[in-house]
Amino acid sequence: MMAAIRAAANGHQVTLLEQNEKLGKKLYITGKGRCNITNDCETEVLLKNVIRNSRFLYSAFYAFDSRQAMAFFEGHGLAIKTERGGRVFPQSDHSSDVIRTLQKTLQQEQVRVQLHAKVADILTVGSGNRNVCGVRFTDGTVLRAEKVILATGGCSYASTGSGGDGYRFAGELGHTLTERRPSLVPFETAESWVKDLQGLSLKNVTVSIRKGKKLLFEEFGEMLFTHYGVSGPLLISASSLVNDYMDDMPLMMEIDLKPALTEEQLDKRVLRDFEENQNRQFKNALGKLFPAKLVPVIINLSGIPGEAKVNMVTKKERMDFIRLIKHFPLALQRFRGFDEAIVTRGGVCTREVNPSTMESKLVQGLYFAGEVLDLDALTGGFNLQIDWSTGYLAGDSV
Ligand SMILES: Cc1cc2nc3c(=O)[nH]c(=O)nc-3n(C[C@H](O)[C@H](O)[C@H](O)COP(=O)(O)OP(=O)(O)OC[C@H]3O[C@@H](n4cnc5c(N)ncnc54)[C@H](O)[C@@H]3O)c2cc1C
Repeated sequence: MMAAIRAAANGHQVTLLEQNEKLGKKLYITGKGRCNITNDCETEVLLKNVIRNSRFLYSAFYAFDSRQAMAFFEGHGLAIKTERGGRVFPQSDHSSDVIRTLQKTLQQEQVRVQLHAKVADILTVGSGNRNVCGVRFTDGTVLRAEKVILATGGCSYASTGSGGDGYRFAGELGHTLTERRPSLVPFETAESWVKDLQGLSLKNVTVSIRKGKKLLFEEFGEMLFTHYGVSGPLLISASSLVNDYMDDMPLMMEIDLKPALTEEQLDKRVLRDFEENQNRQFKNALGKLFPAKLVPVIINLSGIPGEAKVNMVTKKERMDFIRLIKHFPLALQRFRGFDEAIVTRGGVCTREVNPSTMESKLVQGLYFAGEVLDLDALTGGFNLQIDWSTGYLAGDSV
């Protein structure tokens, strides 16, 4: 949509082809229906939040950065607001308003929007240095075009339309495709007891992930247990940062359940709780330390019988228990699938695309924009900013 708007604003006759019955099906579900449009930050920060091929994005981000994206939406009548961490949303909290704004702008720029238009192939002429000459639809009809911008998305949440067709088109035209993997995605754990904790959200914990002794990820924040493993903001970010170690799974994860306290301070705190509950059973003395759902699980892992009287717990047992609270272990077995992944890692290899124009280096007149490229970023509006920026630059360059 952004690419079409920009190409039309430059005076071209533009047709936007969408296989679905409406535009922006994936945009509609972004940001839990609120659409985190972008991040209000400097370009350097945008670049830092891109995990794959950030250098490829210099020109695109400098051509159209997040402040320009904000000005674009505001200039076209969308009231926006900035929340914690620079996250920008529509004032209304409705992603549908973002789509409506884009649709209105497409109309203003006289872009012809063709729905139910599933492209089957991109057509080229010539051998060696080929030129784009149009597209063929699945019903066999052809639309001639001097330029084609391929913005078919990734292959996550395929039900929104991003089934991966664009990869096939690019591959058939000779483009290298890097391996596609789910990213910004929850993890499955080896421990099946996680299902007892399903729905439990832990705030203010530190999660670390290691491959052997090597620390791959460590952050403070919020996480969630699910029936299959772990999710929530910390793990979603982690999935992006440890993605290159997917083949090394299982990876060891530890939760520091009390990151504000050192082991010594925690021991004093536990001793105090034990003294207050001297004649109670161990399982009934932990209510102040943890959410109720976690108590039976942590007791199980501690090896201390839940029925043991608190004053019978030995110092060694208590010290092991403290260590368990600071290093609550889980084994990350695998990522969940593409249908739960916010983005696709991998795609059209950026080395074969001109970063200053988004044009293919292999096929003249073919441009790329958005998630179909091997680009992905952390959460916070950065992925959509990649799409706006590459779309804008592609639209400008045609
Ligand atoms: C649940 C979820 C939440 C997200 N939340 C955010 C967020 O808040 N902020 C953020 O920055 N990012 C978010 N993202 C990521 C963001 O949605 C993507 O980066 C973005 O949608 C990619 O844009 P795109 O235009 O490249 O592809 P898409 O939005 O996937 O659009 C591609 C379009 O191409 C069409 N298409 C595909 N093949 C064909 C074909 N053969 N013929 C015709 N049409 C075709 C599809 O139907 C689709 O409409 C989220 C993603 C998910 C899944």
